[in-house]
Amino acid sequence: MRIAVYPGSFDPVTFGHLDVIRRSARLVDELVVGVLHNSAKTPLFSAEERVNILEEVTKDIPNVRIESFSGLSVEFARKCGAQFIVRGLRAITDFDYELQMAQTNSVLNPDIDTIFLTTSLQYAYLSSSTVKELAAYGGDVSKSVPPAVVDRLYSRFGKAMNNEK
Ligand code: ADP
Repeated sequence: MRIAVYPGSFDPVTFGHLDVIRRSARLVDELVVGVLHNSAKTPLFSAEERVNILEEVTKDIPNVRIESFSGLSVEFARKCGAQFIVRGLRAITDFDYELQMAQTNSVLNPDIDTIFLTTSLQYAYLSSSTVKELAAYGGDVSKSVPPAVVDRLYSRFGKAMNNEK
């Protein structure tokens, strides 16, 4: 069985993440999307909400499973029995950090390789943080995130979004 994990914050999941999920799911037998539960950061959506959202938006992809985890991605991958960690690359600005992470992970566990998928061009500009900022100011996020996320952002930032209308 080829198993990969795709770890991230997914706060919230965007069309860019979904694109990486769909494309990497085609490469493996099982893809485990790992939602990082990081006590140092205060996320907009709790780990449980992020898991629920991801389950909802990936329900049509049979070989994808969603789990939350804390700690090291490479340890999460090992526990899942994965041979690969998937990460997405948008621009050169992602590269330094991602290269360093991949190299650190390969020192920690040489049996697990990191695979990078380059972003699809139409999603290259997308990030969870811009989506949150846009939503907070009442901007239209429907081109950036799936409808399930638009609704949840709307309830979080309802006041600001209503003011726009
Ligand atoms: P993290 O906090 O681990 O960076 P993110 O949820 O921001 O978590 O991102 C998870 C992974 O998805 C990262 O590898 C990131 O580069 C990638 N990613 C984020 N947005 C996009 C996008 N628009 N296109 C392709 N990859 C993306």
